[in-house]
Amino acid sequence: MATLPVPLAPPITSADADRPWLDACSSVLALFLPVECVGCGASDRALCRRCRRTLDALPGRTRLVGGVRLDAAHEYDGLVRTLVLEWKLRGRVDVVRDLTGRTATLVRAALAAAPDGAVVLRVPPSVRGHRQRGFDPVVTVLRRAGVRRSRTLRRVAPPIGTAPPGNLPGGTTGHGQKERNALERVAATVGTLVAEDVAGRDVVLVDDVVTTGVTMAEAVRAVRAAGGRVVRCVAVATVEV
Ligand SMILES: [Zn+2]
Repeated sequence: MATLPVPLAPPITSADADRPWLDACSSVLALFLPVECVGCGASDRALCRRCRRTLDALPGRTRLVGGVRLDAAHEYDGLVRTLVLEWKLRGRVDVVRDLTGRTATLVRAALAAAPDGAVVLRVPPSVRGHRQRGFDPVVTVLRRAGVRRSRTLRRVAPPIGTAPPGNLPGGTTGHGQKERNALERVAATVGTLVAEDVAGRDVVLVDDVVTTGVTMAEAVRAVRAAGGRVVRCVAVATVEV
């Protein structure tokens, strides 16, 4: 299965077209308080004009996860990967505005596709990641999209007979998901998420980065098991598969 470039209409830029004053203020501020551009190191603002243009020109990606369409604002590679890591691991919140604008638009589009209203569920960050960061990046994305209400799927211990993944409560000493082969990853992930109060409801699932897709597929399974229907998955970025 290949990820496909997805045309995003209307054209979306990372700079807020609806808030040009904010962009102008940031440019003026950068004259007095320049920082290193995360993308190229130029002394400018968090993301210089040239790197913002590069970001805007990168196409979004769409792929199937658990039989559901996943819209990702970006491919998780190069500049996007750098921005995500600076945000999540080094707390560079000044890149958030440029990085999450397109994702927020995708979330709004997904919600518009469910005219009777959809429940927004966040794929929970790993316990370890959340403890280290102290924040959930997906909450930031949803705030940007104007979503006031969202919930997270609940992590539970893996069913008896499966090895405890390293990113689950109590599973701090096991091997991380990256070290597992594909079959082991699926086996270790099935049954580890629970969706609540979604029976008969349309659901939009949101995550920051989708790599193998195993966790997002588990989220889809959990919603279905609880009687809900996933109408769309949205992510900031996905790897090419
Ligand atoms: Zn730059």
